[in-house]
Amino acid sequence: MALIVQKYGGTSVGDPERIMNVARRVARFQSQGHQVVVVVSAMSGETNRLIALAKSIQANPDPRELDVMISTGEQVTIALLAMALKELGVKAKSYTGAQVRIVTDNAHTKARILSIDENSIRADLNDGHAVVVAGFQGVDENGNITTLGRGGSDTTGVALAAALKADECQIYTDVDGVYTTDPRIVPEARRLETITFEEMLELASLGSKVLQIRSVEFAGKYKVKLRVLSSFEEGGDGTLITFEDDDNMEKAIISGIAFNRDEAKITVLGAPDKPGIAYQILGPVAEANIDVDMIIQNVGADGSTDFTFTVHRNEYAKAIDILKNVQAHIGAREVSGDDKIAKVSVVGVGMRSHVGIASAMFRTLAEEGINIQMISTSEIKISVVIDEKYLELAVRVLHKAFNLEQSGAPVLI
Ligand code: ADP
Ligand code: ASP
Ligand code: MG
Repeated sequence: MALIVQKYGGTSVGDPERIMNVARRVARFQSQGHQVVVVVSAMSGETNRLIALAKSIQANPDPRELDVMISTGEQVTIALLAMALKELGVKAKSYTGAQVRIVTDNAHTKARILSIDENSIRADLNDGHAVVVAGFQGVDENGNITTLGRGGSDTTGVALAAALKADECQIYTDVDGVYTTDPRIVPEARRLETITFEEMLELASLGSKVLQIRSVEFAGKYKVKLRVLSSFEEGGDGTLITFEDDDNMEKAIISGIAFNRDEAKITVLGAPDKPGIAYQILGPVAEANIDVDMIIQNVGADGSTDFTFTVHRNEYAKAIDILKNVQAHIGAREVSGDDKIAKVSVVGVGMRSHVGIASAMFRTLAEEGINIQMISTSEIKISVVIDEKYLELAVRVLHKAFNLEQSGAPVLI
C-alpha cells in the first residue's frame, strides 16, 4: 500500500465529465489499496475570470481581497470532486487550504507555505477516505486567506506530499510529461522519461509552466518523488524528476528549451560610473518588492555607464516610475524601456562538461537574423533576451539545431 498525492490542473477538471474521470482514477488507485490525497486547481479559465472581474472594480485589486476572491475557484472544484467520488461509492472529504491549516506568510498573491498540519488528513486516510484539498491557497497566521502565485496548486501538491511523506507525488496535466520544450510551440518536442531536479528547477524558473518553480524547490528540499503525467491518457509513465544524473543524461548535453514572455527591460543611460550606483538604482526597486532578473552594466566611458535589467512585465510601469525618480536623484541622462521582449534559455547538465554550447546558440540565432539584446549564463543554462516577435522562431530553430527531437543524439556544434 502506498500513499500517493495526485494533483490535477485546471484543464483536467475543466468540466463535470472530466471531474468524473478524475474521480474514476482516484477510485481505481484506492481500490488497489493505496491511500490517495487529491489536490485540485480551479476549473480552466476560472482564475483568469475572477482576476478580470476584480479588475473591473479596482484596476489594481487590493491583494488581500483578491486572494479572498481567487481562492474560490479551487473551493468549487474540491466540492465537485468530493461529490463525484461519493457518486462512485468512495468515501471522500474536501478541505480548503485554511481547513487543512496550510499556513503561509502574509505575502498576498505570492505567499509561501510555512507549515502544514497533516493530522486530520492522515486521520481521514486511515479511516478509508480519499482526501481532496484545494490547491493554490493557504491561510496566514492571522487567519487571512492567501494564494501561492499562478500555478500554485503544483506547490500545494508537492508540499502535501512532503508533509505526509508520500511515496509519490503525481502531477496530472494536459500533456503527458515534461518535453524538450513546450509542445504547443514545437510539435516535434520530445517527452523526456526523466529529467534531473536541477534541470527541472532551471526550466521552471526560466518559464516552463508545466511545474511551478516552488513545487520543484519543495521536491528538492524534501526529496519528494515527483512525476508529471497526462490526465487524459492511461498507462503512460510520464516524466520522473530524478535526483541523480544517469548515463543518458550525460549523452543529452541540452535537455530542454524554456522561454518567458513575461519580462520587460529597463535601461538607465548615462548613469555616473562610481561606487554605489548599482545600489542606488536597484535599491528602490527592491524596496518596492519588484524582483529583478537579468542585470547588465556596461564598461564605463567618460565617467558614465549604462545599466540594464529586466523585471516582470506586470511590474514594468511601476519600475519605470521608480527609475524616473532615481534618474533625477543620481543625475543619469535617460531611462528607457521595452516591454516587448522575451527570454529564451537552453538548459542541460551536460553543459558542465561541454564547451561550445553558447557559440552554437548564438550562431543559430544569428543565422536567422535574430538580434540578442542581453545574455546571462549559469553552469547549466544560457539565456538570451530577444525581440518578442522572434520568440517562436528562436525556440524552433534552437530545438532543431540542438537536435532535441532525437533521443540521445549528439548535439550539433
Ligand atoms: P495545469 O493546468 O495542469 O497546471 P499548465 O497549463 O499550468 O497545466 O501546464 C501545462 C502546460 O505547460 C502544457 O500544456 C504546455 O503547454 C506547457 N509547457 C511549457 N513548457 C513545457 C514543457 N517543457 N513540457 C511540457 N509542457 C510544457
Ligand atoms: N488556479 C490557479 C491558477 O490558475 C492555480 C493553479 O492552477 O495551479 O494559477
Ligand atoms: Mg499549472
